[in-house]
Amino acid sequence: MPAVTVEDVLALPSIPPLASESLAERPVRSVTSAPRGLEGEGFPVYRAFAGVSLSELDPFVHMDQMGEIDYAPGEPKGTPWHPHRGFETVTYIIDGIFDHQDSNGGGGRITNGDTQWMTAGSGILHIETPPEALVASGGLFHGIQLWVNLPAALKWTPPRYQDIRADAETLLASGDGGALVRVIAGEVAGHTGPGSTFTPMAMLHATLAPGAELELPWRGDFNALAYVLAGKGTVGSERRPISSAQLAVFGPGNGLRAHADARQDSSHPSLEILILGGKPIGEPVVHYGPFVMNAEQEIAQAMEDYRSGRLGSIPASH
Ligand code: MN
Repeated sequence: MPAVTVEDVLALPSIPPLASESLAERPVRSVTSAPRGLEGEGFPVYRAFAGVSLSELDPFVHMDQMGEIDYAPGEPKGTPWHPHRGFETVTYIIDGIFDHQDSNGGGGRITNGDTQWMTAGSGILHIETPPEALVASGGLFHGIQLWVNLPAALKWTPPRYQDIRADAETLLASGDGGALVRVIAGEVAGHTGPGSTFTPMAMLHATLAPGAELELPWRGDFNALAYVLAGKGTVGSERRPISSAQLAVFGPGNGLRAHADARQDSSHPSLEILILGGKPIGEPVVHYGPFVMNAEQEIAQAMEDYRSGRLGSIPASH
């Protein structure tokens, strides 16, 4: 699993242990298993948030773990051109390559730890595809796509594209030195990641060596979710078991913890965990296909605007 790795985790700034006197540790409210699905032109995903209510996910709406899959030659797939309105898509590629192009002029290639942060806002068309050489060769593909909601006041913001390179991530070590924490957006223990977000939130990818424990301070006004990309371990001080393609939802508090099992499978020697939280928006959410709005009427309007070309047009170069 490439993502970003470092030779010496101990050389990184260390996250201090949770202070016991002011600690309200977050309990684990639920652990759910992500069902498999197909996305775009047929690439395999896990529907990470399936079975969890939107009120517990708020400000997040949807997340797919893409792969992990080792494609044979000719197999890699992407999406056709399609629209979005009313939220942001965050695509984090751990292994493999995805090319992106959008009707706003945004575009780029993301690979091995890069993140593409696309604010659809008032409307955009985009396409996500593996490059031709990768289609020909096949190979490993693994990443996530997260949908971050926008409040009503920002749903009509102009589209924006942020290209966040792997080497821009803020890297931290757990107190015991057994975990590497990559901060992609938001702040952890005073260290801020590169992603600029409309909705206050944090997103990080932690790799825990067998037996390692990760203690994280976590803002009390954020929700807290942990999704296991690979490996096995436990979450919370109650040590609730969790493994690949499972999501933990934490209850209220100001700190959380995860622990990697001492024995891991040889195919995935570490616990790979994505940790997310944000400030709930607290508005009605109507999610239909590629649109996330506040009311049914706004979905109908989005479909009409898409049909009449008001969400943008496919660039002539394509
Ligand atoms: Mn899309």
